[in-house]
Amino acid sequence: MTSIQHPVLLEELRRITGPAHVLCDGDLSAYTQDWRKRAQGKALAVVRPASVEEVAAIVKACAAAGVSLVPQGGNTGLAVGSVPDESGTQVVLSLQRMNAVRAMDAANLTITVEAGCILQSLQEAAEKAGFLFPLSLAAEGSCTIGGNLATNAGGTQVLRYGNARDLCLGLEVVTAQGEIWHGLSGLRKDNTGYDLRDLFVGSEGTLGIITAATLKLYPQPAARLTAWAAVPSMEAAVTLLGLAHRHLGAGLTGFEVMGQFALSLVDKHFAQLRVPLFKEAPWCVLLENSDHESETHAREQFERLLETALEDGCVSDAVVAENLAQAHQLWHIRESIPLAQAEEGLNIKHDISIAVSRIPEFVEATDALLRQHIAGVRLVNFGHLGDGNLHYNVQAPEGGDAQAFLRDREEEVNTLVYDSVARFDGSISAEHGVGSLKTDKLATYKSLVALSMMRAIKAGLDPQNLMNPGRIVRL
Ligand code: FAD
Repeated sequence: MTSIQHPVLLEELRRITGPAHVLCDGDLSAYTQDWRKRAQGKALAVVRPASVEEVAAIVKACAAAGVSLVPQGGNTGLAVGSVPDESGTQVVLSLQRMNAVRAMDAANLTITVEAGCILQSLQEAAEKAGFLFPLSLAAEGSCTIGGNLATNAGGTQVLRYGNARDLCLGLEVVTAQGEIWHGLSGLRKDNTGYDLRDLFVGSEGTLGIITAATLKLYPQPAARLTAWAAVPSMEAAVTLLGLAHRHLGAGLTGFEVMGQFALSLVDKHFAQLRVPLFKEAPWCVLLENSDHESETHAREQFERLLETALEDGCVSDAVVAENLAQAHQLWHIRESIPLAQAEEGLNIKHDISIAVSRIPEFVEATDALLRQHIAGVRLVNFGHLGDGNLHYNVQAPEGGDAQAFLRDREEEVNTLVYDSVARFDGSISAEHGVGSLKTDKLATYKSLVALSMMRAIKAGLDPQNLMNPGRIVRL
């Protein structure tokens, strides 16, 4: 690309969206720095279209100029995939202004929304109509459904409702050539060849731009009850999960595990949250029971489950939230772990998945390995145990220089953890995606056959390599 093309392209972008929506000057850090502040990029421009036609025109203009695009929703992603690189030659395409609810079909149990719709607004629109949109994660106040689909986000309800992919029935996409694929089907059955929708879900902006989606709705449960249990070991937590599946069936909508050190950080930095039971137990579990009959029924089910678990010995103590406020407080504790960790200092994050049955063995082996290599290492382990997904994070030794720890030991720590994940046939990215943080790791831990098919898909759909280049796979 020659510099002379910049003014021509910028003029064209201004013509498409109106000059107010092409940002080139001033503080653009909200668009160019990632949520964890691990990367600070530079954009040629940030462009904010208002319609699918504008997105298509922008993509065509950038393709003609040979300029690459970084699609962006709420910029809450944790894999450094939503911000431009440092070259100053990429255009950030923000979907923020495309946030309308286009349609709701009560009989078909579907809602159609634009990609920039904030997840919480979508949940609220569903609730207002008497339905549940179950995708739920701590960033829901600012992440967008387009970003959720592009990263195939998980969150706390995957156990019952699946991840973003499972909730999506149709997509509208602008391809790398600037064509519009009208795939907003609300069909639950459609076996007419390759599943293009599933190709774009989880593609992190590398294949095209998601501009709208048709999503599944569910009936609101009559009651949602939350319990908090102290468990003597990770093995006991897995036993409790099995009991919970048997006792609660489809009512089991949440099963989160939290290590004692993770909870001690919440206690240290947010003492007002009053973390229950963690001092007596190495692990605590948060369970959620969503019942379609009544609160009384949900409570009886929970009591039977916890009695059995206490008798079995897989639970040493437990509390059931008395009301909604207490339930929110328990969830708030769980969701405060990443913030408490950030308060404690920089840390090395891993978002991994292992078959649930092998998690106790994995944790024991990997903890031992890290302690053997790094004296005083502190392990902040928590996550969605019901989905086999752990946030297996590593904090510098107490009183150590966290910045130096990251600089000097991150690569070694990552290799120890990811090699262990590979030995247990797990995944190095359960729900946060690959972004640019893990592109090199993917090249190590994914099979050559899988990588070659992924490159073929990328080359086929984006031969100019202009859609979020350098993320997931390099051509
Ligand atoms: P962005 O960050 O803007 O983008 C993420 C990726 O998607 C980028 O590669 C971007 O290019 C691409 N993209 C964005 N929009 C589009 C589009 N319309 N078309 C094509 N590509 C697009 N994730 C979980 O899975 N589970 C959790 O429990 C969870 N908890 C979190 C808690 C916190 C506090 C935070 C900050 C993040 C958490 N996340 C979690 C990370 C999660 O991936 C994001 O929050 C969310 O899914 C990304 O949405 P976004 O709109 O912010 O996307």
